[in-house]
Amino acid sequence: MEFIDLHMQQERIRDKIEANIKKVLDHGKYIMGPEIEKLEKKLAGYVGIRYAVGVASGTDALLMALMTYNIGPGDAVFTSPFTFIATAEVIQLLGATPVFVDIQPDTFNIDPEKLETVIRETAGQGQLNTKGIIPVDLFGQPADYDEINAVARKYNLFVLQDAAQSFGASYKGAKACSHGDVAATSFFPAKPLGCYGDGGMVFTDNPGIHDKLISIRVHGKGTNKYDNIRVGINGRLDTIQAAVLLAKLEIFAEEIQLRQEVAKRYSDGLKDFVTVPLVKEYNISAWAQYSILHPQRDAVIARLKEQNIPTAIYYPLPLHLQEAFTHLGYKKGDFPISEKTAQEIFSIPMHPYLDIEDQEKIMEIIAQ
Ligand SMILES: *Cc1c(COP(=O)(O)O)cnc(C)c1O
Repeated sequence: MEFIDLHMQQERIRDKIEANIKKVLDHGKYIMGPEIEKLEKKLAGYVGIRYAVGVASGTDALLMALMTYNIGPGDAVFTSPFTFIATAEVIQLLGATPVFVDIQPDTFNIDPEKLETVIRETAGQGQLNTKGIIPVDLFGQPADYDEINAVARKYNLFVLQDAAQSFGASYKGAKACSHGDVAATSFFPAKPLGCYGDGGMVFTDNPGIHDKLISIRVHGKGTNKYDNIRVGINGRLDTIQAAVLLAKLEIFAEEIQLRQEVAKRYSDGLKDFVTVPLVKEYNISAWAQYSILHPQRDAVIARLKEQNIPTAIYYPLPLHLQEAFTHLGYKKGDFPISEKTAQEIFSIPMHPYLDIEDQEKIMEIIAQ
């Protein structure tokens, strides 16, 4: 049994993937080939937003989105400490300061009430310019955007949706990647829509942000590559990865549906034994992970391991306690919900093709 099985999906669409890759080999436009624009159009349509810009990774998508706001030293960007390092790393890379806000205990997403408190405190201290918020749609469930956007408007901040785990999800009927001023997703192989390498995409309705992204993606180009109007990066998505994604997109909606069924079976079978994930009634999760809580997590994981059932811990240490961020001066106890969650959470196999018998075996061991 695998934690995320990508073979079964490949078996289904292998012919289509090979045909799409062959087209790239034939035309030879490995950099910014026609598949990029085709994918951007399709994904913008899927999300229901004006612009999509294919980029080299989810991390670059976040970085480039921050660069469009000229984020730098002296700026504060608010985010969750209970996420993958990339979310806060990009803030630090630009010389700005990540300011953490604790999560909600049931959704693991940033707490909008605490967000407002921390924004007010930070503004009151007068040392940093409060600029933006990066809510993370953890494990595939969108954060509380109506509340977050209201806080953002009140304090004149931008919202960058970290939808690396939530592509395919929706919030109050609108698809993930459409909820902030700008959104970033990842096509890392294990994400809900994954390619066969690194890849990502930035989404926005704002033409000014779109124009900047197009420039930043190719070294800050102006009218051409050798006219540089700003400092950018090499942030392009590979044509071959776009070709793979175009093949996978054809079955993506069905896969999101299959994930709902897998998640429902887990939740029905496990709710009396562990804390199962809470998905708000107005949300549809993309189920990047199925994560549960148990006070004796390590014992449960060990039992599963004995039966060759893989698990993972997302995330064992919240970002405010990571060595990379010691200079920020946080200490243990600063974000109690994130810290407690980090001690009790673990994720069990989740993908659209999880066999029912395998799933029953997993649930039986956990129930014991
Ligand atoms: C995976 C992930 C990223 C980074 O994506 P990459 O494509 O691996 O660079 C950023 N944020 C979150 C929450 C992620 O899970």
